[in-house]
Amino acid sequence: MSPATTVLTAIDATIAWQEELYRHLHQNPELSMQEAETAAEVTRRLESFGYAVQQIGGGVVGVLDNGPGATVLFRADMDALPVEETTGLPYASTRTSVDAEGVTVPVMHACGHDLHITAGLGAAEILSRNRDAWSGTYIALFQPGEETAQGARSMVDDGLVDKVPTPDVAFGQHVLAFPEAGKVGTTGGPILSTGACIRVKAWGKGSHGSMPHLGVDPVLLAAAIVQRLQGIVSREIAPTQFGVVTVGSLQAGFKANIIPDHATLLLNIRAYETEVREQLLSAIERIVTAECEASNSPKPPEIELYEPFPLTANDEATNARVTEAFRAFFGEDRVVQMPPMPASEDFSTIPNAWGIPYTYWGFGGFTPEMNALPNHNAAFAPAIQPSLRTGTEAAVVAALAYLGKAE
Ligand SMILES: [Zn+2]
Ligand SMILES: [Zn+2]
Repeated sequence: MSPATTVLTAIDATIAWQEELYRHLHQNPELSMQEAETAAEVTRRLESFGYAVQQIGGGVVGVLDNGPGATVLFRADMDALPVEETTGLPYASTRTSVDAEGVTVPVMHACGHDLHITAGLGAAEILSRNRDAWSGTYIALFQPGEETAQGARSMVDDGLVDKVPTPDVAFGQHVLAFPEAGKVGTTGGPILSTGACIRVKAWGKGSHGSMPHLGVDPVLLAAAIVQRLQGIVSREIAPTQFGVVTVGSLQAGFKANIIPDHATLLLNIRAYETEVREQLLSAIERIVTAECEASNSPKPPEIELYEPFPLTANDEATNARVTEAFRAFFGEDRVVQMPPMPASEDFSTIPNAWGIPYTYWGFGGFTPEMNALPNHNAAFAPAIQPSLRTGTEAAVVAALAYLGKAE
């Protein structure tokens, strides 16, 4: 038997508390960069497993030094989303919180980070209980603020690199609608795109609704911008390249008979290649500026980039080693090839801070009988099992691919 198989024979003892913790976390979600209760819970658990624990930049890092050998870092994210839960589960969230803009919003673990935390803690306990099966150092890292691209950066800015041993390799995972529950999906190279949000404020000139000729209508201007932006991906990006431009929010005015003085647009972009990302950004700036001029806008638009997400590109050799270990443990049919996804992550900020290789994989959250929903959906409710067990096993198997003792 491989070290992973030996170590994971006793997983049922861990599963019992994991399911209870998962329901608790699901019912008590916290917004990005507000994960105080979650971080306290993670800290308590890691300490009880014998880890040396530190709070870094809103996150929690537990280090388990178990003799000579490699150092492996496993990262889980802890934040929830401003979404009103509609799952109808007995442990559904009814929480609200005040967001960064001071607005009271509902909060829900609609991205499954509650599963990530629970799987990460389960793996941490299993590795601690089975120290005779491996040698090296295991780092269990729990980061805040993934959804807003702030959390990994916050930990790095708070000195992560100097506060914990330098890992040889870093891992991250995400529960997804594909593959099906019980399976893991891996790939070498790019797996998640770069992403960014852009806030555009386009200026008009307010007027009475009956006297449009005396004003500059920012509603018409914003509509022209939205239309024209659609040409970037379809007409400017090569058909073989990947790029997305979405206008997720468009706001102007409050009343039918008042022409407002400005419109605000919130855009989201995705790309794999740096050149494509630059092309999207410069095309957006060019179009917004030109449309404002075309509308006789009284002053130049404000264009602000926020929540920039880095590229997630798996190291080929690391992915190959982990995929091989997954196949040996789960069997060929439970390890699928993951297509690159248009979503984004800030995970790579952590390994990139050290310049170490990493790999990031997906694990299934829905059985074939279920209606598999995309992450961020208000009814996102993965099957606790086999999802939680698979996520926990995957973390242990990947770690032991570097830390396990040959038998
Ligand atoms: Zn998410
Ligand atoms: Zn997520």
